[in-house]
Amino acid sequence: MKTESFRSRFRKNLRVFSLARQISPGWIPLTISKSILAASIPYVTIFFSARIISELSGPCRPQQIEIYVFLALLSYAMLTAALRWLERKRDVLDSLEWSAWTKLLSDKRLSMDFQDLDDPHIMDQYSQIIQNNRYNGGGYCRAVWSMEGALTALIGVICAISLSVSLFMQKTSPGSPYGFLDHPLALAVVVIALLLTVTISPMIRTRSYDLMYGQTELATFDNRVFFHFRLFCIKRPECAMDIRIYEHQKISRDYIENDTVWDPGGPLAKISWGEGGLLEVLAEFISILAVILIYAFVCLKALGGAFGIGEVTQYVGAITALALNLSDLFNEIGRLHHNTKHLDRLYEYLDLPNRMYQGSLTTEKRSDRRYEVEFRDVSFRYPGSDQWALRHVSMKFSVGQRLAIVGENGSGKTTFIKLLCRLYDPTEGQILLNGIDIRKYDYQDYMQIFSVVFQDYKLLSFPLGQNVAASAEYDKERVYRALKDAGFDEKLSDMPKGIDTCLYHDYSDDGVDISGGEAQKIAIARALYKDAPFIILDEPTASLDPIAEAEIYEKFDVISGDRTAIYISHRLSSCKFCDEIAVFDEGQIVQQGRHDELLQEENGKYFELWNAQAKYYV
Ligand code: ADP
Repeated sequence: MKTESFRSRFRKNLRVFSLARQISPGWIPLTISKSILAASIPYVTIFFSARIISELSGPCRPQQIEIYVFLALLSYAMLTAALRWLERKRDVLDSLEWSAWTKLLSDKRLSMDFQDLDDPHIMDQYSQIIQNNRYNGGGYCRAVWSMEGALTALIGVICAISLSVSLFMQKTSPGSPYGFLDHPLALAVVVIALLLTVTISPMIRTRSYDLMYGQTELATFDNRVFFHFRLFCIKRPECAMDIRIYEHQKISRDYIENDTVWDPGGPLAKISWGEGGLLEVLAEFISILAVILIYAFVCLKALGGAFGIGEVTQYVGAITALALNLSDLFNEIGRLHHNTKHLDRLYEYLDLPNRMYQGSLTTEKRSDRRYEVEFRDVSFRYPGSDQWALRHVSMKFSVGQRLAIVGENGSGKTTFIKLLCRLYDPTEGQILLNGIDIRKYDYQDYMQIFSVVFQDYKLLSFPLGQNVAASAEYDKERVYRALKDAGFDEKLSDMPKGIDTCLYHDYSDDGVDISGGEAQKIAIARALYKDAPFIILDEPTASLDPIAEAEIYEKFDVISGDRTAIYISHRLSSCKFCDEIAVFDEGQIVQQGRHDELLQEENGKYFELWNAQAKYYV
């Protein structure tokens, strides 16, 4: 396999800065200032300690010692206070950063082509990004943590070098047996040994990370089951009854118990106890070798008379810190190197292009609501499917009509609506609005002309009024009218805070539970509030009781007003009152006409469906 160049990895990591700027604008300057302070504080202490010890072991001038002590305490106190202040500010940003990061991912989900939401590869990528982040911050978080660590280490290296260069300048006393340490070769040996130990140790540690990172995929399934069942299902009130009755937790428990990834004898534990653990020990041992070497070099030079006890403290402290910081620097570089494959996944997801053609025409805001829609020989296959969901569908309808779409389950009714609302583009053929291909209209503008109540609509645990208006700010009068037209007025009078009452109990103790039928009426009211020229009801009466269903039929004319209403149902009795009925069968329109006309065709699908259901209508 071709290994990726350093330059390409560097570029990918560099892009993290622009993400960080986008996610949390103040994060970069704050982190740089914090790193500078955190890295330099230990050296201030080393510097003044060396001066004080030199003074104590040499001239021992009380006034000079007092000055050093005062400066040491003052600088330490001020720098530490500044560091703590920056840390608190960063803590606030960090807590906001998490939500900003998840928002970045959610925004992408909201803006990607709708059909990509169905794509298993893209959805897998999304859950893998979340999963990697939970596993060890892999991806964005690991990159920012490691960059911060690398920066702190780099500043530490610079400070350590500036405090230790004089070590190599100072010569031992003439005739000292340790005079060989003044030779440039001795200096070279020390520097090379130091570099080797600080590079070999991180390389070994990186190999150990490699082993652990390599297991990320193994933990994916377990984490998904955990996330789906324990964090999602268990929290949802609508799942609670089924979980109690069928004890669904047993399925999740079985999955998790049979998955040995996290077990003491599982692959992760084996790596920790085995090769991974041994590599960590070896890496630590090599780091300690560097420290021993430094101590030996400094102490022998001091014995040779090159400098006093104060400098010994400074050099030992500075060079030990140099070794540790170099080791940290290489460790973080190694982590960044490994993290690029997680960044790849993140970037692939964020850079996913919108392939649906986005036109720029505005849909004419016609006061007469004169719109004509035509399906011209439209065929459609869902992405990844080789079955036609719709085949050669041609149909025209104009505004003000009541159009019913009937057919058995799976005959393509909902797919027809999804194409009309441009959630998907036809695989073949065209859909025209007032004679123009709907792809040429501005997408957001085109969406404005439809109000849809999907079969599996969702209401949110917010106040009723916000649910109806789909907005935090709304026109109360219009909300009341929409709820009344949808037949929700009776229930509304029982609600403790009227339209300010929260639905469900997620965010409010005095929220209310609503039945399926009531929820459906609210969903219809939401569609009415939008006041779009097209209103589409997909099986709108499915969860209504017979009385509520009859109520909706009676009100259907009021509900529709001067809008074009498309009414999908497999209950034929509910479609009798429509101007036009399109009968779908296996993805095709097999009949079209009024109820009476269609019943005349005794060999037709409509006749067959009607007779099959007729026994329920008598
Ligand atoms: P209806 O609304 O009449 O019950 P649909 O339009 O939902 O039928 O479905 C038409 C066909 O398309 C069915 O065969 C169904 O299995 C298939 N289908 C629906 N949704 C998807 C999807 N997201 N991916 C693949 N096939 C789908």
